[in-house]
Amino acid sequence: MDQRVKAIQAALRALPKDRDQSELCLQPLVTQLPTATKRGKLSRKRQLHVYRRDNFVCRYCRRETILHAALEYLAKQCPEQLPYHPNWKRSETHPLFYDITTSCDHIVPLSRGGDDDDTNLAASCARCQYMKSDWPLEELNWTLHDREDSDWDGLTGLFVVSFRARPWKDQNLKNWVTELDR
Ligand SMILES: [Zn+2]
Repeated sequence: MDQRVKAIQAALRALPKDRDQSELCLQPLVTQLPTATKRGKLSRKRQLHVYRRDNFVCRYCRRETILHAALEYLAKQCPEQLPYHPNWKRSETHPLFYDITTSCDHIVPLSRGGDDDDTNLAASCARCQYMKSDWPLEELNWTLHDREDSDWDGLTGLFVVSFRARPWKDQNLKNWVTELDR
């Protein structure tokens, strides 16, 4: 059984008779909760470098991810099928965005002393990044997998081809296409 589940079980078991004992059981779970640390946004160039290095495969769950700009572009073209709100408003955004788009995750969170070095960055799906938040891997019982040997490109190739043939007036998307072309 997961050690954390065991701790919760023991704490619940102790609680009717001895609250202090419950607290003791929970001691190993005590963690530093995420604070609203200001994080500088990584440039497209840096993000792309990490995505390509990791072949757009999530280093935590090993799923193939999709470049956010590629999905956003398709959503702009086909909004009925793929609704999207720029701030990911849940009532207006298809779940694929916060499930499978590519993110750049800080393996050791900035709030725990991690930095922006390449060795501390990993391609991650949006779902894993959201769940991981500001916790270090050990506290979540997660594993950082080695880079997958894969030719998956996050659909960036198709994105560039489609965008060329059927452009969309959006500076951010245009900038992504330019960056992908470099
Ligand atoms: Zn993942």
